[in-house]
Amino acid sequence: MNRRTKIIASIGPASDDEATLKDMIEAGMDVARINLSHGTLEDGLERYRRIRSVVATTEANVAILADLPGPKIRLGLFEEKRHLDTGAEFFLTPGDGPCTKDTFTVDYDSLLGDVLVGDRLIVGDGSVVFQVTDSLPDKLKIKVQYGGSVMGKPGLHIPSERLKLDTPTNEDLRLLDAFVTAGIDMVALSFVRSAHDVRRVGTEPAPRGPLVVAKIETKAAVENLDGIILASGAVMVARGDLGAELSLHELPHLQKDIIARCIALGRPAITATQMLESMITAPAPTRAEASDVANAVFDGTSAVMLSAETAVGNDPANVVSTMAAIAKRADEEFDYEGWAHHIKRDRLIEPQSVDSAVTDVMTMATWRAAMEMGVKAILCISRSGFTVRAIARFRPKAPILGFSPEERTVRQLSMSWGATAIKIDRIESNDESVRNVLNIAKDEGHVRSGDIVAVLGGSSATIGATDTLRMVRCP
Ligand code: PGA
Ligand code: MN
Repeated sequence: MNRRTKIIASIGPASDDEATLKDMIEAGMDVARINLSHGTLEDGLERYRRIRSVVATTEANVAILADLPGPKIRLGLFEEKRHLDTGAEFFLTPGDGPCTKDTFTVDYDSLLGDVLVGDRLIVGDGSVVFQVTDSLPDKLKIKVQYGGSVMGKPGLHIPSERLKLDTPTNEDLRLLDAFVTAGIDMVALSFVRSAHDVRRVGTEPAPRGPLVVAKIETKAAVENLDGIILASGAVMVARGDLGAELSLHELPHLQKDIIARCIALGRPAITATQMLESMITAPAPTRAEASDVANAVFDGTSAVMLSAETAVGNDPANVVSTMAAIAKRADEEFDYEGWAHHIKRDRLIEPQSVDSAVTDVMTMATWRAAMEMGVKAILCISRSGFTVRAIARFRPKAPILGFSPEERTVRQLSMSWGATAIKIDRIESNDESVRNVLNIAKDEGHVRSGDIVAVLGGSSATIGATDTLRMVRCP
């Protein structure tokens, strides 16, 4: 069985050079992520162009995801690595300058008004924890609750219900605009709190616009989950910030719930952050990390994500191939039938859309026919990729081949569980399209003469709904 779970890898200083990018693609990277909370817009665009040009030299279908920073708050610069001892006391003050011996700057103007005595503030992904002990006219007094090292400009997590900042920020919209013009495939939105935040992105619906990924990393997002999923193209379980917002012992259960809701609504779900964290420096993961990746697959995740491991780690290609091997092995053990039964019960369709109701029942029928006939592959003719994502909900054992005339759909499907996306010239009448995709599937070695396959598509080139299923023997 080929790997069904997709891999997203963040690109940074450790993975910028062409040889490393090529090795990562070879190792199984499906989506390259550009994290825009580091560097300038120009750096990000240059990275984007470099990735595109390297991908073009390969046969691989690799999409690019631009991750918008949102209202990410950072401490001022620590010019060198510094250890903050447990119990030590410092001051926080709003500003942009570097941190001094006893006062740390925070790039958030309303720090003094919004943060209250008693709040816990988390540095980085939890390396240091501050407790606010006093509020003075021009600064906050803090005590280090858990000590650790800081360097550079670490992120500072302030409980999201305290923040007055909106997402997307004006800066996000500026970055978004530049990347949409450049032709970005997917954008991720940080610190989403409601469906309204997602709608404010305002891009054309996919595939004309990018697939919008809502990062679930605030308490409010967990409360408004279904609305956010429906307004988004995909969702990320952003465990770094989510783990700072809520108790860590809630995180594994939230991960399961968010993924299950997301797949039930036909959207890819990404599991992110610290998946193979120790591989930033080590050549192999911890046992706990290997289990974490496999368990995310068992939870039904569509994709697993690498952050610092590939952006600043020692050996990005090794991290990708390690993740690919763990995910592939977990795919073999996945409980396909159990999963499909739960989706049949819990699946939800877009309210008030006849087309999506038709796609819902047709993909369910396809899954069932594919299973009962033991088909070699499910061929899916889909302009926007919606039908491919809808069939992926059921986690069919047979490979899913998604055929689209839209280049961006093909790339957006690189994040969809189990799907191999293939570009076709156009969608014709059903008879011609079926013949065409069967030929391509055969030429590319996915099926052979005599194989029984399912072909799902529209009855004509102009119809929006996926209303036709054919079970055919490959000529
Ligand atoms: P980030 O998002 O890495 O951009 O913060 C992911 C997370 O919070 O887990
Ligand atoms: Mn985050």
